[in-house]
Amino acid sequence: MKVVLLGPPGAGKGTQASGIVEKYHIVHISTGDIFRKNVKEGTPLGQQAKAYMEKGELVPDDLVIALVEDRLKQEDCKNGFLLDGFPRTIYQAEAMERLGIDVDKVVDIEVGRDTLIGRATGRRVCKQCGETYHVSFRPAKAEGVCDKCGGQVVQRADDEEETVARRIDVYLTETKPLEEYYEKKGKLAHINGDQDAKIVQEEIFKALGD
Ligand code: ADP
Ligand code: ADP
Ligand code: ZN
Repeated sequence: MKVVLLGPPGAGKGTQASGIVEKYHIVHISTGDIFRKNVKEGTPLGQQAKAYMEKGELVPDDLVIALVEDRLKQEDCKNGFLLDGFPRTIYQAEAMERLGIDVDKVVDIEVGRDTLIGRATGRRVCKQCGETYHVSFRPAKAEGVCDKCGGQVVQRADDEEETVARRIDVYLTETKPLEEYYEKKGKLAHINGDQDAKIVQEEIFKALGD
């Protein structure tokens, strides 16, 4: 199974991804996570991506495409994959097709702007393992400490309100056209993301055919 998760920043893509990959035994590929890891490690890719990410802009298409192409060639993708945060432009989607990578289903998690801002600005992540928390909706048991690994729980550099607002605007202009693109191919599943995370998960499973 090859699935794409579509949805604005804060929609719940990362949160839903873990349940999906567990149920369908596929690998989770988050381009945002890969970029953050590279920024943290100071690799050439990270150095190129950093300034764009901090401003809430998209990293240039060709950089992202090369990265995904490389990742999908790895052995663990043979059983299928869940792309979280890619494609984010029509150009990226077309490039993926040119590379011969097709997808079975595109899950579009829909959430209104006010909810998105509250979710993204309240998001906290573990520096060590990447686990996601929320100050109100999913607080860590001990403040600032990861339940899973004991790592430090912090705010992402691009989750401050102004940058979140910019990222939502970028989503609306650059990424939202992908909804129609995949709708026309009969691959889009609309999911109401503005409800309890467990219910969102059930609806995604239903759309993917249990
Ligand atoms: P995305 O990967 O789409 O940017 P995340 O999965 O990181 O979104 O979720 C953004 C924030 O909202 C996180 O802090 C997460 O804990 C919280 N969150 C995710 N889904 C829900 C939900 N259904 N209800 C309330 N909060 C949620
Ligand atoms: P969110 O979960 O909030 O939607 P991500 O973690 O997916 O955000 O992405 C964080 C940042 O990484 C983006 O704002 C962008 O700068 C960069 N990025 C991630 N994926 C892509 C992509 N497919 N194309 C361009 N930039 C990307
Ligand atoms: Zn952790």
